[in-house]
Amino acid sequence: MGYYRIFVLLLFCSSLVTLGLSLYAFRYRRKPVALAFAGFTLAMTVFSLSSVLSALSPTVELAEFWMNKVRFIGVDYVPVFFLVFVLLFESRYEYVTPGKLLLFFSFPIVDLLLIFSNRFHPLFIRSVTFKQVEGLFYRASWVPGPWFWVHTVYAYTLLLIGFSILGWVVWRRSSPYREQAVLLLAGAILPMFANVVVTLRLNGGAALDFTSFGFTVTGLVYVFALHRYRLLDLVPVARDMVVECIDDAVIVVDLQGRIVDANPAAENFLERPRSEVVGTWLKDYLPVDYDLVGMLQDSEHRQIEIEFRMRDDREAIFDLRVSRLSLRDGAWVGILLVARDVTERVAMVDDRERMIIELEAAKAELMRQVKYDFLTGVYSRRFFLELAEKELVRALRYRRPLSLVMVDIDHFKRVNDTYGHACGDRILVEVAKGIKQELRTVDILARFGGEEFVILLPETDLWQARQVAEKIRAKIAGMSFLAPDNETEIPVTISLGLTALDGKVAGLDDLIRLADQAMYAAKADGRDCLREKIPA
Ligand code: GH3
Ligand code: MG
Ligand code: MG
Repeated sequence: MGYYRIFVLLLFCSSLVTLGLSLYAFRYRRKPVALAFAGFTLAMTVFSLSSVLSALSPTVELAEFWMNKVRFIGVDYVPVFFLVFVLLFESRYEYVTPGKLLLFFSFPIVDLLLIFSNRFHPLFIRSVTFKQVEGLFYRASWVPGPWFWVHTVYAYTLLLIGFSILGWVVWRRSSPYREQAVLLLAGAILPMFANVVVTLRLNGGAALDFTSFGFTVTGLVYVFALHRYRLLDLVPVARDMVVECIDDAVIVVDLQGRIVDANPAAENFLERPRSEVVGTWLKDYLPVDYDLVGMLQDSEHRQIEIEFRMRDDREAIFDLRVSRLSLRDGAWVGILLVARDVTERVAMVDDRERMIIELEAAKAELMRQVKYDFLTGVYSRRFFLELAEKELVRALRYRRPLSLVMVDIDHFKRVNDTYGHACGDRILVEVAKGIKQELRTVDILARFGGEEFVILLPETDLWQARQVAEKIRAKIAGMSFLAPDNETEIPVTISLGLTALDGKVAGLDDLIRLADQAMYAAKADGRDCLREKIPA
């Protein structure tokens, strides 16, 4: 078998290998990086296979069609997929948005249109000659047109960008990114070198294009690299995505405190673009130069809260979780920091606490208003009924004495009419105070209505209650109340109605009604006196 036949056979094998790799990578298509790799190897396959088909063509036209047209579909898309692959490898997702992908993939279309229409305007290939060697077609010579160089510059530009990114990774990143990038870089160099040789015809213009074999090597090296570092696994990708997308700042620093990696959210925390922070010192961004290594000496994780002033002068509070980054063999290689802006949450908790305190105060105030009479400060009628009910139940259950006194100020309307309502109010307050002074703490005094008071006397029988009520009457009658002129004495007296359980069973309503009736009896008997009425 002649050399050329062997060459074509090897070329065919090479295209089978790249096709196999492409199909293999396609199985992992849920990972963008795998999909890009599948495209990369498929473009290589197109490149190699069209050379094979050209050689095997029955006519020179067909040989030319495969060699000078279809093959360039591969040529055009290899660099595009390579660059996309590298960008995905480097997690530069901002450059692989649908819009940018459209741009990447559309230039080759222009190129291909010119290539396929070359016959009308030999811009791409000026002339070409084919020979038959060993019964196979062989491109003996060709002259490129001006567009060929545009096309070449474009393709190499993409490749060089890809190489630069990989080179940057090798230069700046740490293990295992670095080793991976070295492999990817090395894998891509070979076909690139072969292609440069062919393009510049450093091999004397021979038709044998070894680029394809280079591609085979590239593909194999890449598959190795992807597997070795589990790039094709879905889990790490999902994790990558999580790290890329979460709101928490994720920062990796080496043991010296130099930032190795940071996610997009870290830009808010560090207040600098991601691209600028890698390689700089973490301490430059923090208010305090924390001894992270020391912090993690005796625990895997630590959590601290840091407070600092942001560039926009905002006082920010971050919750910072610091963890050890260890390799599987336990070697401690770096530190992972996850920072979360908790300013709002802290403020919210503060607000909530303040609100709760205010609510409690409002509630207490409301309760006070419900319980106490706003003017005299003694119990309100409502609260009195509540308290008295309890006292009554207790007294009845244990057969204890209990008395109730109703008090009404005499001719109070006249006082109001003569000295004014304000003066009346003041007298009300003083009367309440006067009554209170005659009572024990267990007694319950309440303002029952306008100028009426009610007194519940627990553990007090009718006889004792009579003493108390009489003392109260005398006390008020003896008090001096001054008119607004501060000279005139206003005579103030009260009428009292008394009732007591006195061994009987009665409801609170009954007691109140009886005391009320007794009080009216006192009014009828000339006021400033005490009358009694006990349950039947
Ligand atoms: P008496 O009880 O001796 O029969 O005569 P009175 O003038 O006190 O009559 P009554 O109890 O019917 O009148 C109640 C008066 O008390 C009417 C109103 O002017 C006065 N009064 C009621 N509530 C208040 C109050 O909160 N402040 C003042 N200043 N006066 C009140
Ligand atoms: Mg009254
Ligand atoms: Mg009255």
